[in-house]
Amino acid sequence: MGTPLHALIIEDSDNDAELLVRELRRGGYEPAYERVESAAAMNAALDRQNWDIVFSDYSMPNFNGMAALNLIRERGLDMPFIFLSGTIGEDTAVTAMKQGAQDYIMKGNLKRLLPAVERELREGEIRRERKRAGELIQRLAYYDTLTDLPNRTLLQDRLRQTIMAGQRELKPVALLLLDLNHFKEINDTLGHHHGDLVLQQVGLRLRGVLRESDTVARLGGDEFAVVLPLAQAEHAELVVRKIMSALEPPIVIRDLPVAVEASIGIALYPDHGDRAELLIQRADVAMYAAKQSGSGSMVYAAEHDRHSPRRLTLMGELRQAIERNQLLLHYQPKINIRTHRAIGVEALVRWKHPEHGLIPPDEFIPAAEQTGLIVPLTRWVLQEAARQCRALHDAGMMLGMAANLSVRNLQDPKLPGQVAEALEEFGVKPNWLELEITESAMMTDPANALQVLTQLNGARVRLCIDDFGTGYSSLGYLTNLPISTIKIDKSFVIGMTASKKDLVAVRSIIDLGHNLELKVVAEGVENQESWDQLAALGCDAAQGYYMSRPLPADELIRWLSESPWGLTHGSGEEAPG
Ligand code: C2E
Ligand code: MG
Ligand code: MG
Repeated sequence: MGTPLHALIIEDSDNDAELLVRELRRGGYEPAYERVESAAAMNAALDRQNWDIVFSDYSMPNFNGMAALNLIRERGLDMPFIFLSGTIGEDTAVTAMKQGAQDYIMKGNLKRLLPAVERELREGEIRRERKRAGELIQRLAYYDTLTDLPNRTLLQDRLRQTIMAGQRELKPVALLLLDLNHFKEINDTLGHHHGDLVLQQVGLRLRGVLRESDTVARLGGDEFAVVLPLAQAEHAELVVRKIMSALEPPIVIRDLPVAVEASIGIALYPDHGDRAELLIQRADVAMYAAKQSGSGSMVYAAEHDRHSPRRLTLMGELRQAIERNQLLLHYQPKINIRTHRAIGVEALVRWKHPEHGLIPPDEFIPAAEQTGLIVPLTRWVLQEAARQCRALHDAGMMLGMAANLSVRNLQDPKLPGQVAEALEEFGVKPNWLELEITESAMMTDPANALQVLTQLNGARVRLCIDDFGTGYSSLGYLTNLPISTIKIDKSFVIGMTASKKDLVAVRSIIDLGHNLELKVVAEGVENQESWDQLAALGCDAAQGYYMSRPLPADELIRWLSESPWGLTHGSGEEAPG
């Protein structure tokens, strides 16, 4: 008995097929073959079974070899494909190989056939082996081996994609985070092995009550997560009830009924955040609140945050983060819309946390404001921004530097002194520094704000109202402030291409600003369309992902010298203000 070989032969001549088979037999194969000579017959043969190898004639009355080859590749099949032809020329042979054929052999000279078959079968096996290994690695990277559910990485990925789809379709997304109550006791009394069985059963029950389009993941330990695309709060709560009742019947392990109970936290896009990480964190906070109150489930609310363990530990750590050099600044370029060149950068703080990775400011600035840590944080930011501004200027990149202030900073009589100190230490002229204050911060404590701003302005530092349009400042109030710039909030800028209302808001802010002889900057410019609209409306400068995301200092320098918006053509030199 020879080696079995399932061969699909695409050939119009019975004789030629017979010659081929005879040669294969001579080489020790036992071919179980089928001969076809049309696309339809070939498709049928491919549907019917798996083939080890395909031999194909080049031209036939009702079919041709290239079409056969395309058919194999279109179906995503990976099997050796060898041309056998009496007529094939050198050029055609080369094209065929380029299209993915493994070899070509002249019908009149089958000497090369057997070595070619042997080689291709071997290489095909290696390719499949590699693919299997790749798939296994993929599985290990994205799936939890215990429950076979997606792991944290895949959950984050899916959540991100679902949020993006939600953004496009203007539909909400719900994230559920589920943690078993008293799982540790189950583990301790029944042992880890049985604890694992409980987790597997929980996974199956969760999957059982959810739709195909929902993602169920195991995040680790006794923590599971569910992503519900296009789900409002009510829908999410309905799913929570379904999950609770699915978990009600005890799980039987070794004839022992084990009662499981879960606490579930719910966070919603867009209400509670538009980034996957933030939603996960907030669902976690809600889950913790649900556990504390014993209520089973809870939708995220801001007041939960104040007591969340992550926040408390983070705040404890933030104190040291400043000393341990874990804060860093990213810089986002601001572009002059008329000249298309960078005129300055905004320094945006990040926290490089040893465990949680890069934490964005939205996740620690609000808490830093409440705890007073914002004061040392701002002092650090000002120093670092001044240092970087000096470095840029030394490298001939004459850009303005902007930093953000909080309400708390505006109540701090020491602030103007600290600003002056930072500038002096690095020899930066005050007019290169711009301080951004959100409209709402300004309105929280207008009297104090005015005093501090007047001092800063007296020292020739430029001032900008950030996130303009979201607060309720009156025109009269604006005229009293010593500011030079207003920055339109990104929500209007992002919305302006789709919403008439946002477009009108942007236009009025630009007109208002210009009437008060202020410069107007737009933030959140994400595409060419917004850029063009802003240019047409006479906006002065723009900032946004379309031109550049906030970048670490070294990448900023590369961007400045390489990007068409950068400084290559030497503008930016105009001193600001
Ligand atoms: P902001 O001052 O209004 O900064 C703009 C924010 O919008 C940045 O987020 C930036 O990354 C983001 N952004 C820029 N272009 C686009 C775009 O095209 N599309 C979208 N969707 N977003 C864009 P980031 O860095 O996460 O900062 C968030 C906020 O945190 C800042 O808003 C600011 O209020 C605060 N913050 C950042 N650094 C500091 C700081 O050093 N001190 C204080 N007090 N607050 C800071
Ligand atoms: Mg800002
Ligand atoms: Mg802003």
